[in-house]
Amino acid sequence: MAQKDYDFFIAEPNSGEEKYCRVCNSHCKSSKNVFGPTGFVSAMANKFTYHDEFVCLHTDEPWHEKALQLVVAIDETPSKRIADLMKADLQDILKENIRGA
Ligand SMILES: [Zn+2]
Repeated sequence: MAQKDYDFFIAEPNSGEEKYCRVCNSHCKSSKNVFGPTGFVSAMANKFTYHDEFVCLHTDEPWHEKALQLVVAIDETPSKRIADLMKADLQDILKENIRGA
């Protein structure tokens, strides 16, 4: 599952923005001027708006899910040492799965 602001982004319609995945740094695939909910809450509320959507091409791959969990955990841990260990794990995953990483 893509996670907003990590490998899934929302912007103003026709923003002309480019987004890069915060997990694997890939250029995100964009869908311009989409009409729909911008998140779980707006989906539940049937609140549809025009917006641009950006999603990482790798988002459905199992390694990317694992990498996403690491990135989220790195953001959340107060421990610099643990963060460094998780960053090393993350680098391994990215190296194994992305050509040229
Ligand atoms: Zn990605």
